[in-house]
Amino acid sequence: MSENNLLPYNTMRMNADSKGIIPIYSERDVFEVLVEQLSPLKIIGGGSNVLITQDQDAYILKNEIKGIEIIDEDNDKVLIKVGAGENWHQLVMWSISHNLGGIENLALIPGCVGAAPMQNIGAYGIEQESVFHSLSAIDLSEGTTRSFFKEDCKFGYRESIFKNECKGKYIITHVNYILSKNHKLNTSYGAINNKLEELEIANPSISDVANAVISIRQSKLPDPKIIPNTGSFFKNPIVSISTLKTLELKYPEIVSYPIDDEAAKIPAAWLIQHAGFKGKRVGDAGTHKNHALVLVNYGNASGEDMLSFAKQIQDGVAEKFGISLEPEVNIW
Ligand SMILES: Cc1cc2nc3c(=O)[nH]c(=O)nc-3n(C[C@H](O)[C@H](O)[C@H](O)COP(=O)(O)OP(=O)(O)OC[C@H]3O[C@@H](n4cnc5c(N)ncnc54)[C@H](O)[C@@H]3O)c2cc1C
Repeated sequence: MSENNLLPYNTMRMNADSKGIIPIYSERDVFEVLVEQLSPLKIIGGGSNVLITQDQDAYILKNEIKGIEIIDEDNDKVLIKVGAGENWHQLVMWSISHNLGGIENLALIPGCVGAAPMQNIGAYGIEQESVFHSLSAIDLSEGTTRSFFKEDCKFGYRESIFKNECKGKYIITHVNYILSKNHKLNTSYGAINNKLEELEIANPSISDVANAVISIRQSKLPDPKIIPNTGSFFKNPIVSISTLKTLELKYPEIVSYPIDDEAAKIPAAWLIQHAGFKGKRVGDAGTHKNHALVLVNYGNASGEDMLSFAKQIQDGVAEKFGISLEPEVNIW
């Protein structure tokens, strides 16, 4: 395997070459790459949210910018500055060891801190925007540094400006979060409550909630180190209430979560399962046997195999339910 191969750098274990893989330890390293005029450039963190479908005619910047620093605090909260190359779960563990709340529900999400704002990572009733303060990024075409505050980022459900109009334009170097010293826990998500009850924990701490989340995730989600995957492959579609009502007439057992008076979210996993794709396998591409939303590489699937299998799922769901599934994963 060539040293520029991306296989060790993506959790779907796609075998693809690149023009070069350049570790980035500081902002200065980014400026040096820009002075050398290496182009085009792409950025990778933990590679847990990309499906690489072909050799990359690009230099890949591997974000390794480290550091977690408290830069301000008062009686209630602290402002922390985190290097974009820090591992997200390690940041959650750091927050717990400092008794700071706000991200405990996001324990065990793979990947790096710099990618967290990209799709506004979320799980168990929390999204990173609830603790987000700002970030620093370098404009790759102009070589200038810029701060983005919450309102600049246009966060949404698995969305931000960095997945849309600013796609590929910036490398995020640091992210600032506000964590709480007197944190109000969010255990509204049913599975967390059930787990805490099972463990007979009546007054949970931040650490108890994180441990409950870790335990739920370990029992539900395949470990990419054992079965290569990128977590949820598609977003949960949002439909109008009138569409939902029509679907409920035909499929009374359909699962949905109201968003407001006009729209509801339908779990993509339910749609995929009921379109007959749960545990299905075509060659080495498939969905996980316990989790229809997780596409897995059972061995030597290529990016094209994975993409074509994903397309079969999209077609199957569209044909049966008239709903189009949009990938959550970034396709390279
Ligand atoms: C088992 C499993 C479970 C998961 N569970 C969840 C979950 O519960 N919730 C959730 O939201 N996600 C989940 N994910 C998806 C994934 O972990 C997150 O999206 C994570 O934030 C990706 O981080 P990464 O460093 O691996 O990103 P990468 O895959 O390396 O990159 C993702 C995208 O962000 C860009 N990018 C990365 N770093 C930077 C940077 N510093 N500057 C600019 N652009 C950058 C890349 O170019 C790419 O387009 C899961 C994935 C797996 C494998």
